[in-house]
Amino acid sequence: MQQWLRQTSLRLTIGRMAVVRVLVQAQGPVDAESVLRGMAEQGNSTSLATVYRILKELEQHALVEREWHHNSLGTRSCYLIKLGPQRKRACYFHCDVCGRRRKLAEPALANQLAAAAEHEGYDVRQELVVVSRCAACIKN
Ligand SMILES: [Zn+2]
Repeated sequence: MQQWLRQTSLRLTIGRMAVVRVLVQAQGPVDAESVLRGMAEQGNSTSLATVYRILKELEQHALVEREWHHNSLGTRSCYLIKLGPQRKRACYFHCDVCGRRRKLAEPALANQLAAAAEHEGYDVRQELVVVSRCAACIKN
């Protein structure tokens, strides 16, 4: 992990290391409040403003990916660590009649599918395609 951070132009500070450690352990997207809690559990007490600042720095250096999560309470930002070379894992709905493609609007879901595939020993090398039927073709 240290080597991975060293490859970037970002200087290794204790705060950044602590944030990265929490994100790696989370193994999925987490919001800033969760990062703050995780840091406190590891004995790194800091402020939410500092967590946001570090997350922004990591995001600017493409070490962290930000996702928008929607629920009944509204929209919140979640952060996902990008370890190693990042492959784009787009997921598409593919109409079996007209061939129309529509990209799945949930990148987290595509990543989950890829992670599930990896768990089974498969390496997802291409885009994920869900064969389905588009609204227009269902009508006809
Ligand atoms: Zn169609």
